Amino acid sequence: MINTNLESIITKLLALTAIELPDDVYESLQAMQKKESQSLAQELYACIFDNLSKASSFKRPLCQDTGVLQFFVKTGASFPFLEEIEDTIISAVKRATIEVPLRHNTVECFSEKNTGNNTGILSPWIEWEIVKGMQNLHIDVYMAGGGCSLPGRSKVLMPLEGYEGVVRFVFDTIVEWGVNACPPLVVGVGIGTCAATAALLSKKAILRKVGEHNKDPKACDMEIRMKEGLDKIGIGPLGLTGSQSVQCVNIEFAGHHPATLGVGVTVGCWATRRGSIDINPDLTYAITSHKKSQIFNNF
Ligand code: SF4
Repeated sequence: MINTNLESIITKLLALTAIELPDDVYESLQAMQKKESQSLAQELYACIFDNLSKASSFKRPLCQDTGVLQFFVKTGASFPFLEEIEDTIISAVKRATIEVPLRHNTVECFSEKNTGNNTGILSPWIEWEIVKGMQNLHIDVYMAGGGCSLPGRSKVLMPLEGYEGVVRFVFDTIVEWGVNACPPLVVGVGIGTCAATAALLSKKAILRKVGEHNKDPKACDMEIRMKEGLDKIGIGPLGLTGSQSVQCVNIEFAGHHPATLGVGVTVGCWATRRGSIDINPDLTYAITSHKKSQIFNNF
């Protein structure tokens, strides 16, 4: 069943996410532009901000690749519209595809046919988290573009590789593939028992704001050191060299089997588009990702 009021809120969130960067990513690009010393890189930041300003004034997606949509839903068992959320998200994606518009990206496996509405088998992807006692509904939406998804990979390290192996895997991935993902990159790293948990945690890592570090002091230290090291590679904005390559490295982790350490990498591009909203049981809401939400209100 579809809840039309909720559908309208999610459609607007998709429009806002496609057209405007979340505040933290916008501010991180501003800070990187200021710090950049190389002239070609400075030109490229100017192009990025010109692109962002035109997208905002013409109310058009800030990148042509509006991605395949991924939703991360957190709520409590008492939220009144629990059974309607999934159908409503799917319906909102179809509506946003026409109204924003979003590029038709979802292609079914094996038939390789484009469904034309950004939905398909298990698409949009919805990750659920039921939180004890939570009254409202929190949704993070992420637009997974083709280029920025390309460096994504995960593996289980051999038992003695340890955290040095984690660092090596992240650096090998970014050196080999990072340039495909329109840098400066948001790098998510997941650490867990197996390839699957590490991959999922690496995606959750890029949902955390740029500039917010893991609360664990060792993970935080690793985030800072890996960013410093990756910047030295000199990929620069759009891969055309520069003094900085990544906006941040975010690490998420889970307890693991003593014999295995799984590591996953997920990358977001300069146009890391994620939107976040808290929706109350009476369907009042607060957008937590964007201060500038006129597009949301006027859409
Ligand atoms: S990597 Fe990002 S900015 Fe580049 S084309 Fe893909 S979605 Fe757009």
